[in-house]
Amino acid sequence: MRRNFRTLATAGGKFNSMTAKATTRAAALQGEIRQLASARNAVILAHNYQRPEVQDVADYVGDSLGLSREAAGTDADIIVFCGVHFMAETAAILAAAKTVLLPDPAAGCSLAATIDASQLRKWKAAHPGAVVVSYVNTSAEVKAESDFCCTSGNAVDVVNTIPPDREILFLPDMFLGAHVRRVTGRTNMRVWMGECHVHAGIAPEDIRAQRARHPGAEFLVHPECGCTTSVVEAVSAGDVDPEGVHILSTEGMMKHPATSRAREFVVATEVGIIDRLARAHPDKRFHAANDRALCPYMKLTTLEKVAASLKNLQYRVDVPAEVAARARLAIERMVAIGGRSTPPAPGVDLGE
Ligand code: SF4
Repeated sequence: MRRNFRTLATAGGKFNSMTAKATTRAAALQGEIRQLASARNAVILAHNYQRPEVQDVADYVGDSLGLSREAAGTDADIIVFCGVHFMAETAAILAAAKTVLLPDPAAGCSLAATIDASQLRKWKAAHPGAVVVSYVNTSAEVKAESDFCCTSGNAVDVVNTIPPDREILFLPDMFLGAHVRRVTGRTNMRVWMGECHVHAGIAPEDIRAQRARHPGAEFLVHPECGCTTSVVEAVSAGDVDPEGVHILSTEGMMKHPATSRAREFVVATEVGIIDRLARAHPDKRFHAANDRALCPYMKLTTLEKVAASLKNLQYRVDVPAEVAARARLAIERMVAIGGRSTPPAPGVDLGE
């Protein structure tokens, strides 16, 4: 989604309630960042889960696959990636000639951290001949050891392209893996027991309680980034009432309230996207399935760090050429399969 620079919005929420002084400071920093970006011929990409003031200064806001596409297509010399490390690596793989900067090098991902390349090599050695399918939340080195990447939107399609007699190693998200195994009926699929710590804030019992509190509300699930794959799995396992459930991509989620007759929505996602929904649909009400579902890594990026990143060209994310070449193959197979080979179920627009 292309963004125009605008001044800081001040909707409610933990990361966006600012004092007047802080708002003035943020506006000044945003102006400085835009000047620096222009002087450096830099593009600023921000994930949906970033702080609102960082989203507001970005050229593009979106989910990880959307941002990867922007990175691959940009004519800027520098990409400032306001997200987490594995996403910046993917941008560096797809835009090899560009300089990719991550404003805070500590912005990691608890799900991607559950497996490294040497662990994957050992797993592969124990299952020779198996096909490796990796969710995008993995390091470049893990992608380089994989046959396919997948998103939550096309994981089922990716697995369905693999001959039924071939064993599959699916990683690192155990909830997405369980969901894919159930939907495809694959019995020869092994799943790595990794999880995103944010999902723990969106448990089925929390969802049931929140839906009971708002009985007329529709239930929207945003499966980006591992934080809600547990909810996708709970819906497909029947642990959450499927009535009124819409599993939506970022853009599907942003558009859906305008076409729905519902006035209220319970939303299962990292809480960062709820502020965007409230701003886009001021006449509707949005309730987090659980407001503890917050990714601290995504909130590490601040306007000060974005400005410092542009000033000092820090922190550069480089992927060795040989690793990038092998990882790119797995990513390109994911993109070639897309997410549309099987028609989505009613109410499901997994998109990317
Ligand atoms: S929400 Fe979870 S999967 Fe996404 S970046 Fe944060 S820790 Fe990783």
